[in-house]
Amino acid sequence: MAEKKETAFMEKIVALCKRRGFIFQSSEIYGGINGFWDYGPAGAELKRNVRDAWWNDVVRRRTDVVGIDGTIITHPRVWEASGHVTSFSDPMVDCKKCKGRWRADQLPETKCPEGGPHDYTEARQFNLMFESHAGPIKDDDNKVYLRPETAQVIFAQFQNVLSVSRQKIPFGIAQIGKAFRNEINPRNFTFRSREFEQMELEFFIKPGTDADWHKRWVEERLTWYETIGLPKEKLSIYEYKKEELAHYASACVDVMFAFPFGVQELEGIAARGNFDLSQHEKFSGKSMAYFDDETKEKYIPHVVEPSAGVDRICLALICAAYTEEEIAPGDVRIVMKFAPRIAPVKVAVFPLLRNKPPLIEKARQVFELLQPHFTTEWDDRGNIGKRYRYQDEQGTPWCVTIDFDTLGEKGPELLDTVTLRDRNTMKQDRIKIADLVPLISQRLRG
Ligand code: ATP
Repeated sequence: MAEKKETAFMEKIVALCKRRGFIFQSSEIYGGINGFWDYGPAGAELKRNVRDAWWNDVVRRRTDVVGIDGTIITHPRVWEASGHVTSFSDPMVDCKKCKGRWRADQLPETKCPEGGPHDYTEARQFNLMFESHAGPIKDDDNKVYLRPETAQVIFAQFQNVLSVSRQKIPFGIAQIGKAFRNEINPRNFTFRSREFEQMELEFFIKPGTDADWHKRWVEERLTWYETIGLPKEKLSIYEYKKEELAHYASACVDVMFAFPFGVQELEGIAARGNFDLSQHEKFSGKSMAYFDDETKEKYIPHVVEPSAGVDRICLALICAAYTEEEIAPGDVRIVMKFAPRIAPVKVAVFPLLRNKPPLIEKARQVFELLQPHFTTEWDDRGNIGKRYRYQDEQGTPWCVTIDFDTLGEKGPELLDTVTLRDRNTMKQDRIKIADLVPLISQRLRG
């Protein structure tokens, strides 16, 4: 019963994402392609806001983190050193009857469509990296991989960044970018995709300070999720037990979110020791050591790695924002209650009517006043009520309507005033045009 409710809720989310241009199936006109998703106009803005919030908070506002922007395809030795070529795999099984294919640790609860239980093959390991060839000749010498994570690009550039950035340990290198994993069973909408985006930080530290820095980053990252509007009660952490940790890691905590389909990972925060840098030193023959010119110590830094998925965060934000409100008997308003900071559009500007040139002209002036300060949308189609509902479904926190009062037709006291409508309360206030920018800026910060 509960499962049915969750499926119905996810169906509503998927339908809204399509209807309001958050997320479309990739190549939908050709029947789609499993595990790939496109972001529409609203989704592209949402995603950009998530990236910007992370980049601002993790890189720009700190003095101890710098950013890079590396390539998707690297020298294949990067992935030999990191261990991905030999061990980045999942166990896979097939059903001999229906030919279905699953991860051996994520078997379906359903019966075989051919009747009775599924008849599984032995599990075999399947490497999740996508392969390609660099250059015109498709042989093993030219084999390359699409990066399955952004992190290794950071490790491979550690010495270059260190030499140019004037940073000293402890400091971090951050990166946002695409990653690719040939997941056996993409599922739960965008949650498990084959192409996705990561926001990763490698925070390099002095050996021995791992536990302290790991704790600090877990706290920092958990709080960050609240600042982008995810409700505290839906966030939790999962602490890995000793036996669950990779052999080189001393601690790992996942930040979890209560999705409609279960409590699942948004971000992993691992204390990885010096495994990655040591591996690259071994495979490249280049030193990855750091020399502390104050203490005169030389060592390979340890690292704490907070690694988050942009698409999972967007999905969490969409699920958390989705609200249905019965505002009159039988009249249900769907409203996406995003935090203004990450809402795709901050303000929508409406001339009351589209065929009255003085209204349009005034509304254009208001649009041009707001547009340099906020992501602003123009809408002059349909009646005002419908326009409000459209913006509610897109999660726009404020709508500004320019009407005949704005033109001073009801008297000079209302001249150059507009209505400012609040998405959550639906309350409309009469505001002077000149007060709009400071007022909206204040509410946006608020
Ligand atoms: P999972 O156990 O769910 O497969 P993971 O532990 O393998 O995830 P990491 O390798 O720690 O994931 O990657 C860091 C982050 O990248 C994850 O927390 C998630 O947000 C994101 N991520 C990983 N795989 C995918 C995917 N297939 N689709 C979307 N996001 C992903």
